[in-house]
Amino acid sequence: MMACPMTTMACCFSMLLRKFVVILFFACGLWAPTTTAFSQSNPDWTSPFPPHRIISNIYYVGSKDLAAFLITTPQGHILINSNLSSSVPQIKKSVEQLGFHFKDIKILLISHAHIDHCAGSALIKQLTGAKYMVMDADVSEIEDGGKSDFQYSKSADMLYPPAKVDRILHDGDEVRLGDVVLVAHLTPGHTKGCTTWTLKVRDNGKDYQVVIIGSPNVNPGYKLVNNAQYPQIAQDYERTFRVLKSLPCDVFLGAHGGYYGMTEKYAQITTKGTNPFIDPDGYKSYVADREQAFRTELKKQQAKGAM
Ligand SMILES: [Zn+2]
Repeated sequence: MMACPMTTMACCFSMLLRKFVVILFFACGLWAPTTTAFSQSNPDWTSPFPPHRIISNIYYVGSKDLAAFLITTPQGHILINSNLSSSVPQIKKSVEQLGFHFKDIKILLISHAHIDHCAGSALIKQLTGAKYMVMDADVSEIEDGGKSDFQYSKSADMLYPPAKVDRILHDGDEVRLGDVVLVAHLTPGHTKGCTTWTLKVRDNGKDYQVVIIGSPNVNPGYKLVNNAQYPQIAQDYERTFRVLKSLPCDVFLGAHGGYYGMTEKYAQITTKGTNPFIDPDGYKSYVADREQAFRTELKKQQAKGAM
């Protein structure tokens, strides 16, 4: 968050803070300055949501907006995203409501190194003994609790408990457990090591490609031009959109439920025989929309820089 010259004026600061949080929420559902401010301004991050089966052995165990996915195998489970520190009991409860054991989580993965997706990791590692596997370019942030983040390193409220990474991943690496094979795709820009996960599943005799988007979003305040902390940020976003457009996708998922219309799709589970999470067109239009948003912001910043 940018330093605010009005921080001594509590009233103005409160208004700015509220505006700031709302802008962020609508932009990509990302940040909250403090847990208190965030839970007041963004209740969907902490509101419980019914855990549910998405397809095959993939289950939703997140809150109303912070997505967490449990991928089960007879050899133990993989959890993608630990969310906020306060989310851990909620995730544990969801795992148990589905009939699985929290302690059977053997591998912990994340979408990217931001507080709303990784703050619970240290506690989950402690409770389960899971091996934490993180994309190379996000490892320093994870291990210093966000202090090396290119945008938020000086924002104390954006930091989270550091956690030791057990395996450093590189673009294209596979994470295997039982018969599950997840592929880690580097989709950088939003964070330097932002990761999109893919896997193939079989359901009712058919094969499906699943894509879990890390984040294609440009946060408010991100400098896409002349960014000394992240000089190649714009090229990295370009790469991300190339990668996302190249991935075959039947089942569209992402780091926030809002990316893929989780609540609306969940509501359709009970009323339709078809699986609402199978949504190849939704994936294509989401990626196209986010690419357009990136290009608009880039042009705006380039025009401003050229003046
Ligand atoms: Zn983020």
